[in-house]
Amino acid sequence: MSVAMPKPSEAVLDRRDEIVSALQAIVPGEGVVDATDEMRAFETDGLTAYRQLPLVVVLPDTVDQVSRVLAYCHRNDIPVVPRGAGTSLSGGALPLQDGVLLVLSKFNRVLEIDYDNRSAVVQPGVTNLGITKAVEHRGFYYAPDPSSQIACSIGGNVAENSGGVHCLKYGLTANNVLGIEFVTIEGEVMRLGGKHLDAEGGYDLLGLMTGSEGLLGVVTEVTVRILQKPETARAVLIGFPTSEQAGECVAEIIAKGIIPGGMEMMDRPAIHAAEDFVQAGYPRDVEALLIVELDGPQAEVDHLLAEVEAIGNTNGAVTCRVSQSEDERAAFWAGRKAAFPAVGRISPDYYCMDGTIPRKELPKVLAGMKALSEKYDLRVANVFHAGDGNLHPLILYDANKEGELHRAEEFGNDILRLCVAVGGVLTGEHGVGVEKRDLMPEMFGEDDLKHQQRVKCAFDAKHLLNPGKVFPTLHRCAELGRMHVHKGQVAFPDLPRF
Ligand SMILES: Cc1cc2nc3c(=O)[nH]c(=O)nc-3n(C[C@H](O)[C@H](O)[C@H](O)COP(=O)(O)OP(=O)(O)OC[C@H]3O[C@@H](n4cnc5c(N)ncnc54)[C@H](O)[C@@H]3O)c2cc1C
Repeated sequence: MSVAMPKPSEAVLDRRDEIVSALQAIVPGEGVVDATDEMRAFETDGLTAYRQLPLVVVLPDTVDQVSRVLAYCHRNDIPVVPRGAGTSLSGGALPLQDGVLLVLSKFNRVLEIDYDNRSAVVQPGVTNLGITKAVEHRGFYYAPDPSSQIACSIGGNVAENSGGVHCLKYGLTANNVLGIEFVTIEGEVMRLGGKHLDAEGGYDLLGLMTGSEGLLGVVTEVTVRILQKPETARAVLIGFPTSEQAGECVAEIIAKGIIPGGMEMMDRPAIHAAEDFVQAGYPRDVEALLIVELDGPQAEVDHLLAEVEAIGNTNGAVTCRVSQSEDERAAFWAGRKAAFPAVGRISPDYYCMDGTIPRKELPKVLAGMKALSEKYDLRVANVFHAGDGNLHPLILYDANKEGELHRAEEFGNDILRLCVAVGGVLTGEHGVGVEKRDLMPEMFGEDDLKHQQRVKCAFDAKHLLNPGKVFPTLHRCAELGRMHVHKGQVAFPDLPRF
């Protein structure tokens, strides 16, 4: 593991048996997993290069149990890592050696569907797609659609503020969550929001919790907005000889005021990998492919499709194919949604990056990535949410070859530095986790980071929730208040700096 984690507490490790017994008293039956071979299933998440067995795994099935587990950990200074389905790509659910892994997968029920208020109340372990499945018979769906939607949990989506191909038009998780119930590290059960937008008075704590990566509280219930399916949706594949032309096309579509339901871009290696895997009908003789989906009333979709095709042509498109049936539209998207596993077939390992740039910087960033690919002697395949400027370069490497993982990580770091340098940000939708933690100073000054940690301190003064994630240096909460530094001596020299 090349990312240093907080040093485990010997005091906690020494008391493991006692801790396991106490947790078994709170969550009886099979809710506590402490055998090494059984805990293996939880030792990593989607960032599989990193693995760590937790102290113990706890699978509660009531809010009261969650509350009592957290209160116990708080009283006994035991770190807690919340986990949904474990698909995080930034290592957010990576366990800690001295930490309880609190898994929410038993919270898997849809509690209420309120069509009048166009909302659904679900437990956090319900999968993203599970929400749509629960309401689709009435013509409704849940809009944010991460490619991992068959597996990832809505609790994880809230914690990561996840996105997907339809977020360009319908917003990220933050724009589709109306309310949550969460439990603080002290065990207090809190509710934010309700069944309609902006249900809170005062500070936007719901906004704060969304994307907080398990550092502020454990989400135990989520109320989401459900939308009526558009009358029609059609997708068009537009192929270009260069990525620059595809980028210009994206910019022009947005500049014309057209907001497609989804607008994705893939480069040649990604196109070929996806086509070989799912036969989506992609052209193989182009350098860049746009998938643009228009949805809404039939007349509007027809009109916009013609406009998008025209914009494609003026930007040098060499192929343009509009879906002629629902099956064909689904096939166009199947290729994009299977792009990650497809790339997994052409390389022993790949490392998925996630950064966001202003759309107009795309050609510059793609050129920079090409140069980095040569510098690190590693191939890269690109899929990205072109409409929002969210890049997902997939760096291909072989973990069995000495030094390749390290080179892939350095390559990835340089891509993220490039994103920040052109005015973008370190993350798009995968969170910071452990993966981008040490790059946070590339984007934020020391003062910015301290301010962010003050927010963390307001929720979790002992830093017990998901420590080692997001913040590159742990500042003890007392240290974040005003303090006197005498003759330049470093304050709190015992604090972990990782
Ligand atoms: C193949 C693949 C494709 C993906 N595609 C996308 C994509 O298109 N868009 C996208 O945004 N992401 C994508 N992801 C990333 C991932 O699926 C999302 O980040 C997802 O939201 C994680 O959900 P999870 O249930 O797996 O959470 P986990 O991985 O279990 O946890 C993620 C983070 O959330 C915290 N957490 C989980 N549950 C709770 C809770 N109840 N309360 C508090 N904190 C909690 C954890 O501590 C951790 O920090 C993809 C992942 C894979 C493997």
